[in-house]
Amino acid sequence: MWSGIAASPGIAIGKILLLPNKIVPEEKQKKHDDPQRAFEQALLASKEELITLREQVARTNGEEMAAVFDAHLLMLDDPSLIETVNQAMRDGADVVTAVQETIQNLSLMFSGLEDEYMQERAADVRDIGQRLLGHLTGASAMDWSALTEPVIVIAHDLTPSDTAQFNPEMIYGFATEIGGKTSHSAIAARMMGIPAVVGIKELLKGARSGELAIVDGEAGQLIVNPTQQQLVQYEAKFRQSRDFCAGMDSFQELPAVTVDRQRIGIAANIGWVRDVESALQYGAEGIGLYRTEFLFMNRETAPTEEEQYIAYKTVLENMAGRPVVIRTLDVGGDKQIGYLNMPAEKNPFLGWRAIRMCLDRPELFKIQLRALWRAGRYGDLKIMFPMISNLDELRRAKELLLQAREELVAEGKMVAGSISVGMMIEIPSAALIADQLAPEVDFFSIGSNDLIQYTMGVDRMNESINHLYQPLHPAILRLISMVIDAAHRQGKWVGMCGEMAGDLTCVPVLVGLGLDEFSISASDIPGVKKLVRTLSGRKCREVAAKCLAAGTAADIRALIADLS
Ligand code: PEP
Ligand code: MG
Repeated sequence: MWSGIAASPGIAIGKILLLPNKIVPEEKQKKHDDPQRAFEQALLASKEELITLREQVARTNGEEMAAVFDAHLLMLDDPSLIETVNQAMRDGADVVTAVQETIQNLSLMFSGLEDEYMQERAADVRDIGQRLLGHLTGASAMDWSALTEPVIVIAHDLTPSDTAQFNPEMIYGFATEIGGKTSHSAIAARMMGIPAVVGIKELLKGARSGELAIVDGEAGQLIVNPTQQQLVQYEAKFRQSRDFCAGMDSFQELPAVTVDRQRIGIAANIGWVRDVESALQYGAEGIGLYRTEFLFMNRETAPTEEEQYIAYKTVLENMAGRPVVIRTLDVGGDKQIGYLNMPAEKNPFLGWRAIRMCLDRPELFKIQLRALWRAGRYGDLKIMFPMISNLDELRRAKELLLQAREELVAEGKMVAGSISVGMMIEIPSAALIADQLAPEVDFFSIGSNDLIQYTMGVDRMNESINHLYQPLHPAILRLISMVIDAAHRQGKWVGMCGEMAGDLTCVPVLVGLGLDEFSISASDIPGVKKLVRTLSGRKCREVAAKCLAAGTAADIRALIADLS
């Protein structure tokens, strides 16, 4: 049994297809008399391949999956990438080394930023690198459409173009040696409903093509050559999970209401304007978190007021009157942005990030606040501030928000009449003074990703201490309970927009603690709605009370398991 990180839920049983690390020995590599020309030809061949793949994947897996190839085509046209390779060749490197080094440096730069979005870019960079090297060395890429029987894929890593080509009817599940819950392959697996476990060290040494394997995407385990007993046990689990997923589509449009009529709000988290489409498709009743920092990434200068206004307005218009919570700029920590000239820090997660930076740079912050006031006329806008750790920060942020409005009014610009203002609870100090913060806001949104990180003292990006990152630790549940109770006592509502809200194991206890809104990935919406509709609010409250008194996350899991 191999343990890793549970990346995408579900059980898969099937034969292994092992993808070896593709390294072509030097003596077997093509020789290049004219390296410059070889590079040009590799670029051209890669582009042609990408165009064909794009068309193919758009037909089989839809436009969203095909978009990865558009990004790769753009990267291959990037003059600075081409120039760096050419320069390395002029400096004497052979073409394979020049491409390898350029790709490695670029990918290290992206992955060094540790931001989830940037890490995806690093995977894309490695992906185009592999494609170019494939053409230069003669190593052929895997042809996923040629599979003749369903498999469990085992690989060191999977590239974005691999996963984009996956057909869930042929790829029952996968396991990789590297990656985390937010790595590209994990996100793709969840989108396609393929059970997956990632981050299993040394996995390639312990598996062979053709062997039977079980992927347990809930427990984060891979079993190679299972015993008869394990097989029987997992086949039963597989049937249960298949029955749970059956008819999932029909839950999209239904409200999340418990059998005893406790109504739960279900919203989606988005990063881009275009994400609204899938949020609505999956049945989101609103947007519970719009991460505006994505608008600021991958560019040379900050987006203008006009640009931000158009983005926020479009989201509000497309959500057609449904509530939209827009979070103000949350950069720093794992999200570094070159043009903001943020100083290097020893502990960026504990450093000058999010609201801290915005309050120190009101000229930058106000541009966003102005755009929000202007856009607020086009829908039900709610603003929230990230990383508030004390009352002063909240008050200062609200002061700047009001100033921005006054300035716009003085300039004769049209602004929203009023906007509901909330804050994220993601630092334990904020959770502990929730009763003092509640009178000054309209709502709280619990950022469980950071709240767990700061409460448990566990870096959320560090795979090796992943086992200590425990959403169901009693300390986390107690903080959540304190926040909800403090808010409810003052007539305020509480949402949660961290990953915990979409974790089906956590949902019953969150319902029992009284969480009003779950803001989750769009694709998790039908599953959460379906689960909530089987729960009894009364029983969830009883279990939640017991969980608050429990000593360990394992005890809490057992209490929740007893519910079903
Ligand atoms: C969180 O911390 O839970 C959250 C939603 O914010 P982010 O993941 O963007 O830090
Ligand atoms: Mg956060």
